[in-house]
Amino acid sequence: MDLVCPSCGEAWDVHHMRHDVWGEWDLNELQRTELKENGRLGTATGWIRREAERHGWVFGAESLLSFVRCPSCPPAPAAELSGTALKIAIFANADGDDEAAVTALLSAGLAVE
Ligand SMILES: [Zn+2]
Repeated sequence: MDLVCPSCGEAWDVHHMRHDVWGEWDLNELQRTELKENGRLGTATGWIRREAERHGWVFGAESLLSFVRCPSCPPAPAAELSGTALKIAIFANADGDDEAAVTALLSAGLAVE
């Protein structure tokens, strides 16, 4: 199952996002454990999110599935989040622990747009 980047349309595999995407980020063991076990990025100003942004990812919420910009996005100043991006952030944050539920919600949300 893929999630589509709301900014550029690139498709990203949900399993990759949840389990592999942060593999090359510069994180300590505690941060890796938090991502592995909970899939949570921490606060918007925290190290994990800053490290994610350094690799081209911008997340709308704590969930790894809440990305609103990806490395495939064309370089641009941070735009305001679109309605779709906000919806993703809200859904992913609410159900971040249940991968299948988040994916279903996001797919339904994107289909409505
Ligand atoms: Zn993108």
